Amino acid sequence: MDMIATAIRVELNTLGFKKVKVTQTISPAWTTDWMSEEGKRKLQEYGIAPPDKRFAIPKDGVECPLCHSSYTRLVSEFGSTACKALYQCNDCKEPFDYFKCH
Ligand SMILES: [Zn+2]
Repeated sequence: MDMIATAIRVELNTLGFKKVKVTQTISPAWTTDWMSEEGKRKLQEYGIAPPDKRFAIPKDGVECPLCHSSYTRLVSEFGSTACKALYQCNDCKEPFDYFKCH
């Protein structure tokens, strides 16, 4: 967390803001319920299936962010990070991450 605050300070200093105070708030804890529709759309455009409140880690049926097919399958409950699961599309064959609900 200090690395993030340091990066923010450095960037703002570079832009000319000399007195910067970074406040970190850890309560209430962030959840995927806070993710905006725009944020979910941007995740999908980036190639990550956004969280779906209907299920945590479904075995199949997550919409492929590339071809939008729901003919997909779970490969691993953990993807490129612990907050994502790895899926593969049975139609376009591409692997992709699904952002788990939490
Ligand atoms: Zn696909």
